[in-house]
Amino acid sequence: RHALGSLGKSRAKFISAEETTGVTFDDFAGQEYIKRELQEIVRILKNDEEFQDKGIYCPKGVLLHGPPGTGKTLLAKAIAGEAGLPFFAANGTDFVEMFVGVAASRVKDLFANARSYAPSIIFIDEIDAIGSKRGGPDIGGGGAEREQGLLQILTEMDGFKESTAQVLVIGATNRLDILDPALLRKGRFDKIIRVGLPSRDGRLAILKVHARNKFFRSDLERDSLLQEIADLAVDFTGAELQNILNEAGILTARKDKDFIEREELLEALKRQKGTFETGQEDSTTIPEDLKIRLAYREAAVAVVACYFPDPYRPFIQTDISTISSKPNMQYAEFSGKAFFRKSDYVNLIVKACTPRVIEEEMFGIENLSWISAKATSEASRHAEFLILQTGMTAFGKAYYRSLSDLVPNLAAKLESLRSEYIRFAVEKCSSVLYEYHSAVETITDVLLEKGWIKADEIWDIYRKAPRIPQKPVRP
Ligand code: ADP
Repeated sequence: RHALGSLGKSRAKFISAEETTGVTFDDFAGQEYIKRELQEIVRILKNDEEFQDKGIYCPKGVLLHGPPGTGKTLLAKAIAGEAGLPFFAANGTDFVEMFVGVAASRVKDLFANARSYAPSIIFIDEIDAIGSKRGGPDIGGGGAEREQGLLQILTEMDGFKESTAQVLVIGATNRLDILDPALLRKGRFDKIIRVGLPSRDGRLAILKVHARNKFFRSDLERDSLLQEIADLAVDFTGAELQNILNEAGILTARKDKDFIEREELLEALKRQKGTFETGQEDSTTIPEDLKIRLAYREAAVAVVACYFPDPYRPFIQTDISTISSKPNMQYAEFSGKAFFRKSDYVNLIVKACTPRVIEEEMFGIENLSWISAKATSEASRHAEFLILQTGMTAFGKAYYRSLSDLVPNLAAKLESLRSEYIRFAVEKCSSVLYEYHSAVETITDVLLEKGWIKADEIWDIYRKAPRIPQKPVRP
């Protein structure tokens, strides 16, 4: 067995070597294709000779790039764990220090060490700190020093022969764009893998990994709760998803409860969001009259969303716990291509008008407030897009990037057409809200009572609500 505890002292300071990490690919969830790629590499690492007989060599370098917290370090450890190889971890910033010559000699030490334990794995996190483009702006100083370090990495990577001591170098960065192209050349980091934000299914899989050691009332309840969180946690990284479960566990313990329940998970989600969204307010601090306005706005948006269902991005739920100038309704993600017809664009304009229409109808035009202020500009924006960029309207078939492309008489034509669309949209929206007024009231009541409402319940109310015949709208 390797005696890794006895590494030179000066090195141990910045290189932590672990025999094997115990981490496996099972710990990484979502983005299955990444695992497949890396599993291949592990197979080659493990059966080095057999593959070499067939002329297949392991890549020397694998570069993982993507936003922080997406599991790059985890993947590097999993490769080491799966292959059962020692793992040498360093950070690009470790090499850039004040003393001349230190960077290069630290790189040398790192590789010498790894080679003496070969086959082994070197992981350099934030490799951009040392491997950024040469001759670029010298951010943070130490430019010449860094360059020496980078050159040394290149030398080391070019140095080891395929047949001898196999050392796999794994680099991680969230700034692929600033890396020195020399690093990416054949024979260096020739496998570049993007680790992106997880999809909805990826989020669910990650949540499941981190729920393994947590207590829920039943497996069934756990799965349905995790699905709900996966729906809501759009754009969250793996690290953030893990935090949600940890935080929920802490909240549960604080309340002396045995199981994590919906309440704790939602609270944890909100807290996690709070760390990168500003202007969030606690629902208890929202004044009552504003809450009523918010509830009407969300209810109206929900009803109009039912009336013009979006096949690509169904809505998921809404709430009145935060104040913003845009509706709180949350929609499912859609990653494919939408196929929009003209009527879909028109419906977008109608939907965008909703906050303004409902507020005016319920509270009067003199009483409009900021929570519907964005509706007007949103609706105008959609109308302008339809007119200028789709070629689907009476305006004509040419494409105009923006208003500034227009000659004056066309600008006047755009204006009149746009106000025609807005007039139509406002009337249409108003007559939908008239027809479904009872549904609006019921959803408003639910929101005021519970603070939130999910899609199922919205649809149920919408379908069952008594309707009043619409007044016809002039097209
Ligand atoms: P990065 O190196 O990309 O900044 P890390 O690997 O340090 O991200 O991620 C931090 C932690 O977040 C991991 O240790 C793991 O617990 C969790 N995590 C991130 N991505 C995933 C994922 N895809 N599956 C499971 N856990 C993940």
